Amino acid sequence: MADIATFLAGFERFREKYFAGDDSVYSRLRQGQSPRALVISCCDSRADPGMLMGAGPGDIFVVRNVANLVPPYRNGAEMPGIRADIEFAVKSLNVEHIIILGHSGCGGIRALMDGEGITENHYEFIGTWVIIAKAARERVLRELAGEPDAVQARACGQWAISLSLDNLLSFPWIRERVEAGTMALHGWYFDIDAGELLGFSPETLTFAPLVAKPTVAT
Ligand SMILES: [Zn+2]
Repeated sequence: MADIATFLAGFERFREKYFAGDDSVYSRLRQGQSPRALVISCCDSRADPGMLMGAGPGDIFVVRNVANLVPPYRNGAEMPGIRADIEFAVKSLNVEHIIILGHSGCGGIRALMDGEGITENHYEFIGTWVIIAKAARERVLRELAGEPDAVQARACGQWAISLSLDNLLSFPWIRERVEAGTMALHGWYFDIDAGELLGFSPETLTFAPLVAKPTVAT
């Protein structure tokens, strides 16, 4: 079994960094939070949004789920799940940005491509969850039939992000804010293999690097 003491030592370092002194980060955050963005990301341990963005405590409001999916708006949903998280971030915290952060090598997207919840049922819950993005899978099977699994999975992950962006706009109080120019939506894809962060362009409907790679000094 893994040694849990590592995590407790981590908390000690965290406390030293953010609680030390009268003007510590938490002396301010104790009064409340006003994060600048809601980030909806995958649970994957390699794609932690706070670490990726260099965010400190209070900077980003994070919701994580398998394959970073947003279901469409459904008023009166019996189990609102992530809809409640989004509502709190938008209506109570007034975030100005919503970032959907996906990544390469996603197990949830792999399950979706494998037909989990559609033709396969290896899990109890994952299939019911990932079929939120079944339109992305159908598009892959239509447009990229015969391509290698890795190519299909990458396209499925990116198209699932654009689908989730569309689903965000089905929430009336998000659409209002976006149309009024007080909120912006972003689709990001962390390429674990290349160490790149890609962004979705609504104009070209494609993903391209958001940050230039450092030039190597010679
Ligand atoms: Zn993932």
